[in-house]
Amino acid sequence: MKSYVFPGIIEDSILSIGSWQIPYMRTQEFSKMNLESEKILLDLIGCKNGRTIIYTGSGTGAMDAVVANYVTTKNKAFIINGGTFGERWSLLCDYYKCDCYNYIIPFAKDINYDDLEKQIAVEKPDVLLCQHHETSSGQLFDLKKISDICHKYYISLVVDVISSFLVEELDMDKLGIDICITSTQKGLNIPPGLSIVFFSSRLNDYGYNHESYYFDFNSNFDNLKRGQTPFSPATTLYLQLHMRLKQLEASGVDANIKRVQNSALYFRELCEMYSWNIPAETPSYAITGFYVNNKSSRIFRSLIEEFDTFIMPGAQEGFYRVSHMGLQSREDLLELARHIHEIEVR
Ligand SMILES: *Cc1c(COP(=O)(O)O)cnc(C)c1O
Repeated sequence: MKSYVFPGIIEDSILSIGSWQIPYMRTQEFSKMNLESEKILLDLIGCKNGRTIIYTGSGTGAMDAVVANYVTTKNKAFIINGGTFGERWSLLCDYYKCDCYNYIIPFAKDINYDDLEKQIAVEKPDVLLCQHHETSSGQLFDLKKISDICHKYYISLVVDVISSFLVEELDMDKLGIDICITSTQKGLNIPPGLSIVFFSSRLNDYGYNHESYYFDFNSNFDNLKRGQTPFSPATTLYLQLHMRLKQLEASGVDANIKRVQNSALYFRELCEMYSWNIPAETPSYAITGFYVNNKSSRIFRSLIEEFDTFIMPGAQEGFYRVSHMGLQSREDLLELARHIHEIEVR
């Protein structure tokens, strides 16, 4: 199988953990491992003296947790809504009845940051929710510019870095971000099923709400003091996460960013060769989103049926997304591009 979806092709050493018998988790060994994972995660994202919560649940679970525990303590949220995932913040705010303003960005466009500041000055929010990379289009937003505006107006910044963590430069402390969230099946490149909330040390004594039983921040923090979780963790995934983090700690984030970046830049050369248009104004390295020339060709299904290859369809006709976060070689990408071309010219 060739996979350019999330998580993509995973390293054998990580995959093989999936075939182990499951160790009991209420042990010193599990606690020690979990606390070590937390420490490495905080180092990788530049969040000194901060905390994490690792949930068994996909990325949206962590988004839900942040809105239920944190955004509900605020008066007004400002949402940068640049696609499917920005929209998800908005739906969650509606669900928990949080007052919010949707700042809509057209598909694959960057933010007009001067206009953003003007709108923020008018709306006067106390928390801003955004994505670093809007995965539905491939558009990357400028977190430095967003965080500068937030600091100028004393707004707490919450960023969904689910598809940028470990593939784009990111330092929570330098950017003054209060909360970041990510999940395992994107940049971490391990199976789906865990999501991670990162908390800046500025929030150490924060008074959270208790609008969610399962996702309650305080009960998770209390258990985590001894390396435990309030409910049964997906033990296998915690083991896979730990091994992956040890690898990243040894090789460094920069090497991972470089690997993904090289793949993305090479695939974009191939897109240019076949005249496939990339709509994102400032594309992230995480994925390449592109329009093929023959919009009615059956690319998605034919790749599966004939070549055992997975790419992601997009929200628009003829728009496809190829993830660069999994393992892939230049030869793989060249073969993928040839297959797509072969199907579209039939
Ligand atoms: C994948 C993703 C999510 C979460 O999706 P899940 O299916 O719940 O894991 C959220 N935000 C972004 C930007 C994503 O790429």
